[in-house]
Amino acid sequence: MERQQELATGLEKVRSQVTTTCEDAGRDPAEVTLVVVTKTYPASDIRALAGLGVRDVGESRDQEASAKVEESSDLDLTWHFIGRLQSNKARAVARYAHTVHSLDRASLVPGLSRGATEAGRTLRCFLQISLDGDPTRGGAPVKDIPALADAIASAESLQLAGLMAVPPVTWDPNRAFSDLLGASAHLIQQHPEATGISGGMTSDFVQALRHGATHLRVGSAVLGQRPPLR
Ligand SMILES: *Cc1c(COP(=O)(O)O)cnc(C)c1O
Repeated sequence: MERQQELATGLEKVRSQVTTTCEDAGRDPAEVTLVVVTKTYPASDIRALAGLGVRDVGESRDQEASAKVEESSDLDLTWHFIGRLQSNKARAVARYAHTVHSLDRASLVPGLSRGATEAGRTLRCFLQISLDGDPTRGGAPVKDIPALADAIASAESLQLAGLMAVPPVTWDPNRAFSDLLGASAHLIQQHPEATGISGGMTSDFVQALRHGATHLRVGSAVLGQRPPLR
């Protein structure tokens, strides 16, 4: 019960910040999807969050995610895969995820497409871009966006949702989200349906919202500080 209260408090705080920021920016909060990132936290937290009206949850590791999906199968949730994708896991992830935020190279497309087709569903895919061109942290270089977008949009059972980015650590988030918005405007000329912008975590979702983010991926502000990842 205490945990439920903790989650309710964190969630309420984030939701009200989203509403206030949208009002300030002249945006409709209904066009923003809050993805609550539950990685490292138990399935019981996901159940509690579902009781608080959360529908969208984010996970970043296949093994952990697939176990939680199974434990939560009676809840009507939308699963977002946000972590780095290994090619050999793509097909498995596509069987349970509704949306992938981290598609950053062409070699992932066949596996995702096959898994989604086998599961009889359409998988929404955000193309993750690297704003500073540093490939070690994931994300495709900006110059690769057009070809990669075409590959996703034309693959069976995949739907191009838009762009995703994580701001480079040394950048002002405003610069990062402004660049992301620019890249999105460019993509939309080619793929008018790909209007999604996945940006913004606990530390910077307010800036992301001001720059047009449609999907926020917020973990610790709702669930608490995670122990450092191994
Ligand atoms: C963990 C993670 C988040 C959530 O981070 P918080 O700082 O806890 O909000 C968002 N996006 C990605 C890609 C992540 O790996």
